[in-house]
Amino acid sequence: MTTSFVHDALPMRVVFGPGRLAELGEEVARLGPRRVLVLGTPEQGATLQRAVDGLGDRAAGVFAEARQHVPAEIAAAAADRARELDADGCVAVGGGSSVGLGKAVALRHGLPAVAVPTTYAGSEMTPIWGLTEDGVKRTGRDRAVLPRSVVYDPELTLTLPVGLSVTSGLNAVAHAVEALWAPDGTPITAVMAEEGARSLLAALPAVVDRPDDLDARSGALQGAWLCGAVLGATTMSLHHKLCHVLGGSYGLPHAETHAVVLPHVVAHNAPGAPAAVAALGRALGAGADADAVTKALATEARDLGAPTSLAAIGMPREGLPDVVEQVLAAPYANPVPVTRESLTALLDAAF
Ligand code: NAD
Repeated sequence: MTTSFVHDALPMRVVFGPGRLAELGEEVARLGPRRVLVLGTPEQGATLQRAVDGLGDRAAGVFAEARQHVPAEIAAAAADRARELDADGCVAVGGGSSVGLGKAVALRHGLPAVAVPTTYAGSEMTPIWGLTEDGVKRTGRDRAVLPRSVVYDPELTLTLPVGLSVTSGLNAVAHAVEALWAPDGTPITAVMAEEGARSLLAALPAVVDRPDDLDARSGALQGAWLCGAVLGATTMSLHHKLCHVLGGSYGLPHAETHAVVLPHVVAHNAPGAPAAVAALGRALGAGADADAVTKALATEARDLGAPTSLAAIGMPREGLPDVVEQVLAAPYANPVPVTRESLTALLDAAF
């Protein structure tokens, strides 16, 4: 087969390993900032303090007001705090909400960030930013928001509750699956996506059985890194569009929505994406038959205890036709055509 592609790699510096948080100060020093503001959510106080300890005298202070969807006034308040403390950079510690705050501060106020992820969302690997102003969330891509360095310390994920570990992990697997059928996927993103999905799908059952198993946590976090990297490198399709509408218009929780919707989108798209199905089949150890792969994915999600229906995560049935119309109205690439009938059937099954 003849291949032809453009692979445009994003800059990526990763420091990975248990205990690596202790080297955060050296990592920041290497990149330049003299004093950094530590960003995070109010619930993660103990982890933020560990980051401060790792930073030593490069820690200027803590701003623990990160929230989902990055309200613009919170980003402005973080930048104000950085100025008051004479900080010239940020360290974002936490999940997608904390990393998203670091990106917003980088975008609007020009402060560089280092990320210390503690979930599997993968935002730290993407140039995608989001900002909510006057109730409207805008998103965009800008390389300026990419963290300068990412410190993955699996010890920080030991406290991630099992339920959130599962849904966050399946959120990451969804990035990989869509990268496998992305219109701008390359042989390199395909390798990363398959390995990312494999690593996470292998680790999650062990995380559920033994949440404090550092090997399992390391495998999951490595998978999340690769899944985030391919999210940043390719264009997402039907799955992410659907989840965006379900989360944006109906307030459904981010990671849970991804977990519910993914097997249904795989079933929908499988006829147009045999290579993606085969890669996912290898990652799951389920062969290349589309039905078997879809079933294996749905079974693993259910066995992990993930929610399995939109109804269970708060979707009102009467909203489904509106979701269909919103998704049909937005143009995006997808390996098989999306019709009113196919989308209605997909959502009915997911409901
Ligand atoms: P989150 O960052 O909102 O965290 C969820 C909760 O888990 C928070 O209460 C947090 O304090 C807690 N938490 C995080 N890590 C923990 C740990 N190790 N131990 C205990 N508690 C912990 O959730 P998320 O799923 O990581 O991120 C979701 C957000 O990220 C959404 O807003 C989504 O849009 C965004 N996102 C953006 C991108 C991107 O590329 N821009 C990619 C993925 C997700």
